[in-house]
Amino acid sequence: MQMTSSTPTALEVLTSIFGYDQFRHNQEAIIQSLIQGEDAFVLMPTGGGKSLCYQIPALVRRGVGIVVSPLIALMQDQVDALRQLGLRAAFLNSSLSFMEKQDVEQMLLRGELDILYVAPERLLTEPMLNLLDQCQISLFAIDEAHCVSQWGHDFRKEYQQLKQLAQRFPNIPRVALTATADARTRQEILEQLNLQQAGVFINSFDRPNIHYTIAESGSNARQSLWRFLEQKHPEDAGIIYCLSRKKVESTADWLMQKGRLALPYHAGMTQQQRRQNQMRFLREEGVIIVATIAFGMGIDKPDVRFVAHLSLPKNIESYYQETGRAGRDGQPADAWMNYGLQDVIFMRQMLQDSDAPEQIKRVTQFKLHALLGLCELSTCRRQALLAYFDEEMKEPCGNCDNCINPPETWDATKAAQMALSCVYRTNQRFGVTYVIDILVGKTDKRIAYNGHDRISTWGIGKDYTQVEWRGIFRQLLAMGYLQTDMEYGTLSLTEKSRSLLRGEETFFARKQRKAEKASRQHATKQSRTRLAEKDQELREALRQLRARLAQEQGVPPYVIFHDSVLDDLAGYRPATDAAFLSIHGIGQSKLEKYGELFMEVIRQHPPADTPPQPIHDEQYLEDAPRVTSLSDTVNISLNMLKTGMDIDTIAKERGLKSTTILSHMADAISIGKLERKQVLNLSDGQLEEIESTARFLNLSWGENLKPLYETLEAQWDYGTLKCVVAGMQTPGETYE
Ligand code: ADP
Ligand code: ZN
Repeated sequence: MQMTSSTPTALEVLTSIFGYDQFRHNQEAIIQSLIQGEDAFVLMPTGGGKSLCYQIPALVRRGVGIVVSPLIALMQDQVDALRQLGLRAAFLNSSLSFMEKQDVEQMLLRGELDILYVAPERLLTEPMLNLLDQCQISLFAIDEAHCVSQWGHDFRKEYQQLKQLAQRFPNIPRVALTATADARTRQEILEQLNLQQAGVFINSFDRPNIHYTIAESGSNARQSLWRFLEQKHPEDAGIIYCLSRKKVESTADWLMQKGRLALPYHAGMTQQQRRQNQMRFLREEGVIIVATIAFGMGIDKPDVRFVAHLSLPKNIESYYQETGRAGRDGQPADAWMNYGLQDVIFMRQMLQDSDAPEQIKRVTQFKLHALLGLCELSTCRRQALLAYFDEEMKEPCGNCDNCINPPETWDATKAAQMALSCVYRTNQRFGVTYVIDILVGKTDKRIAYNGHDRISTWGIGKDYTQVEWRGIFRQLLAMGYLQTDMEYGTLSLTEKSRSLLRGEETFFARKQRKAEKASRQHATKQSRTRLAEKDQELREALRQLRARLAQEQGVPPYVIFHDSVLDDLAGYRPATDAAFLSIHGIGQSKLEKYGELFMEVIRQHPPADTPPQPIHDEQYLEDAPRVTSLSDTVNISLNMLKTGMDIDTIAKERGLKSTTILSHMADAISIGKLERKQVLNLSDGQLEEIESTARFLNLSWGENLKPLYETLEAQWDYGTLKCVVAGMQTPGETYE
């Protein structure tokens, strides 16, 4: 952006370049203080809008803004995104050829850059610093600032050198930004970067658009995952975290077999393979990355719709950070976790095995307990999560599994006592499975050989199933009533078990819940704004245009427009430049680049309820009775049907597609104004096939029918399917 005589204000930049109409949270205060030349420390959750905090002051102040980022793989995308906005951006890192590097340096010297991204190790070389001495610099932004902290989880040595900037460029404002920092990391960042004088801006850590679900998985974690994906994210991009490389590989394979595009990512792959998979995740739509926890730092793909954990994350900080990669665009997204007893045991063993200093071990232990506490919680997850970051949330959130479907607890004191005494009677020498076998009264060779079928606790736990027992043991372990040995996984009692055994304490356990039910309720409550069917066609056409443009330019689709922009374009159908500009997220540069193209597609898809209708259409509205809860266009089709026309004739008369007419009929069917057999020509067997498939997929009226359409191998059109599903229930009821 060429700055002319009068400098624009921060707000002007926000609206004209970025296409947003107001600042979020404390963006404005941060930006103002940087513009005034003060330093700042910014703690903001992922997706909160950190980038604008340095991009706007870099544009308003004279000179080039230098952005330090450890994530060289992503610099290209960031620069692409800025160039799309008409800004003069570039990066310097090891991926550039000598010539490219020289070009960038020349631009820098000539003052032709607004923003320059640099890897920390490069920034701190003497030639680079000399170069910077000759330039006018607007500010330094230190992204992912927690990398400077040894206490944090992504320590990078080069980062500690960044404190030099303070001495070398004392008059240039510096801003450090991060999305993760507990109080201790925060302190370390300020010290290490010499930012004691900086304004400190801490945002709420709440991510209201993320729906949290945590469940114990037992042995069928995959099945639950599949159900979750099918019900809520049949086509979405997401990340699945697993603990081991092996599990990453096998999960990705399995998903591919199930027809999803799932790519592995772990440290055992070559760098090139990893880069390629990450690239596909960023550039293609609907890709799932299955990764070890190492994946994702700085992934700023805005439309990650879910993050799933197939095993426990390391601690709450990691959980928060990993799940935070979902829904950066502010649209509803899911953080879904399934964990099992094995995870708890594994984590404890890792901890005991580690040869870290005692002090660190204690902290790690504490963090693990906090995590397990969050998992076993029966109250609002968000409240607990925020409380962990010292943030109080007054009311339960209403958007987590526990809020939506509160788990029942039961007084499990007796059962817990049985479990503990069985561990005691077998001399604290056996693992969970064996102890449970004794509780439920199993006999096998080993039990008989050990004489454990003759002890008092043999068979006293028959009232509970093995699954229930596993749940009880997991909770006992989580709450520290039991511990496991590192080598053999044998259970032993703790200091804490004594009072429970003596009956001085009560033990409330979560009841096992039916996970499917919880997520179904949520699916209807939370899914993204649904576009009317007529708009969906347009949305798809716009998406294709976006995909084509992205491919031509070699950038990820979201760099052109976010999904929400496509939704808005399809919903509002802007026809003029001014209307186009009024869409959230569209600024001047995007209007100039894409306005014509997208508005052309919009023109080609006129809305269905204002088609150039033949005049006699209206008659069907005037002369006949109408159902007020149905729209006019549906009433017209319905009344035409009642005069004896068939679907195809109505479609022809109205200049609409047959499937559109069928979907009108479906509306009428759904409220009981029409019977399916009045419009559909299906045999009982066919009807039954569609119904049972819909039931199997757990689909109901109003939901996306694509899975049904595909499972039935496109035998029937959407209109027919819609009518069938519409008739499967009476209004207001579901058919679970
Ligand atoms: P962070 O770096 O904090 O994770 P980003 O800077 O990538 O977040 O911003 C997340 C998303 O929010 C981006 O798509 C960005 O364009 C958008 N955004 C940022 N600030 C605003 C704002 N004031 N109004 C609307 N959208 C915004
Ligand atoms: Zn909640």
